[in-house]
Amino acid sequence: QSDLLKANLKNRLADHGLQNEVQVLQTGCFGFCEKGPIVKIQPDNTFYVSVEPKDAIEIVDEHILKGRKVEHLLFKDPKNDKRVDDSKHMDFYKKQVRIALRNCGFINPENIEEYIGNDGYAALGTCLENYKPTEVIDLIKKSGLRGRGGGGFPTGLKWEITNKVEADQKYVVCNADEGDPGAFMDRSILEGDPHSVIEAMAICGYCIGASKGLVYIRAEYPLAIKRLKVALEQAAEYGLLGEKILGSDFDFEIEIRYGAGAFVCGEETALIHSMEGLRGEPTFKPPFPSESGYMGKPTNVNNVETFANIPPIINKGADWFAGIGTEKSKGTKVFALAGKINNVGLIEVPMGITLREVIYDIGGGIKDGKEFKAVQTGGPSGGCLTKDFLDTPIDYDNLLAAGSMMGSGGMIVMDEDDCMVSIAKFYLEFTLDESCGKCTPCRIGNKRLFEILDSISQGKGTKEDIDKLRRLSYVIKDSSLCGLGQTSPNPVLSTLDHFIDEYNAHVEHHK
Ligand code: SF4
Repeated sequence: QSDLLKANLKNRLADHGLQNEVQVLQTGCFGFCEKGPIVKIQPDNTFYVSVEPKDAIEIVDEHILKGRKVEHLLFKDPKNDKRVDDSKHMDFYKKQVRIALRNCGFINPENIEEYIGNDGYAALGTCLENYKPTEVIDLIKKSGLRGRGGGGFPTGLKWEITNKVEADQKYVVCNADEGDPGAFMDRSILEGDPHSVIEAMAICGYCIGASKGLVYIRAEYPLAIKRLKVALEQAAEYGLLGEKILGSDFDFEIEIRYGAGAFVCGEETALIHSMEGLRGEPTFKPPFPSESGYMGKPTNVNNVETFANIPPIINKGADWFAGIGTEKSKGTKVFALAGKINNVGLIEVPMGITLREVIYDIGGGIKDGKEFKAVQTGGPSGGCLTKDFLDTPIDYDNLLAAGSMMGSGGMIVMDEDDCMVSIAKFYLEFTLDESCGKCTPCRIGNKRLFEILDSISQGKGTKEDIDKLRRLSYVIKDSSLCGLGQTSPNPVLSTLDHFIDEYNAHVEHHK
């Protein structure tokens, strides 16, 4: 649809001899998936939604030639049925604060000059010219940035640990192996703004003393890979990667490594094994990758979204970033908002915003006027939160305390029609498939857990089975080797905690 729309716009402009005066550019994602494809007209900032290829004629003939907005393509505010012509006035965007997604949907990701024209590579220049590596690390520590891949470990501290290890070679790794069901945060950043990640990896290399970077990306992300490759070539052409970057003594290059879609390879040690050509299995920590990682060398691993936050922190200052969010969770978080919600899409919100604001203000409420039942955060490692948590401010600690977790940013909304036993089963089936099989509690425990859950969901379970579910869940959590196994029973436990009536109803059905 979008490719055809773009071609139609170009052809219509050419019909009017305007092909050199009006550019048609393809950007990354604007985030409002529910209303795509989107066409934005600059400089007047008009935002057209749900545009079809055939609409190209009207957009060119009416808007471009006559300056008249195409009314029926403007977003209709469901609150009052009024048409809105600028994204600033749409509820979906009003409460968003875009830092990691700052350029997505606004620049052509395949043109480095557009990135440079929007402060791109200024942070790298500032670091190389004005700061020692330890000073940059102090700045990142002061900003309070925590890893956005799920763990929430302080980024500056991670960099500091790797900086302090002596080695002849160190590595910077970008984890782009996003695998949660319904999550597409990292993919959108790489598709919409690949240079922000490249710039941040170079800054990280400068800070920890690494001359090599590796992006570990899912092979199922062809557009992200294509744009990353174009960006890497352009950065090298402009002297922003390679030897003596920007006239300094700092050398840095980046290679791409492809992942085959194993969820467990999002775990740092499994990811490193996979990059080394070994089976993607986690190992015990310590040693941590910061001491012994890729090829046995000190390695700093951060995910795409974490890196995308780095250049603005350097450009605008640690205090600016630390001024956004809550006491222990600074800045913003990108979420992939999905499920039974009106405005499905990719959003970036300040830490501390409530679930209610995300679901009702930004998300536009539940589809078809149904009742909200639960929201799953943290993907298969997280938990389901009920309406009692709608006013909980979202941050790392509050979500953990509520029995879920931030995770990498998947957020799936369920309505009154969803069976929570089936939801728990869905997530458990996913982790069961994705378990690498290395340790027994995860490999066998999750299989048994699934069998019990399956029997309950088919109305064949007993009260004792419900008790067994809980006990086995704790054994798996306590004895699994890596985060995948340790968190795999979370959807079961959180649904047992909040929706025990539904489990009981399935069991009653058996009697
Ligand atoms: Fe593999 Fe699961 Fe053990 Fe992790 S917990 S090492 S995924 S079997």
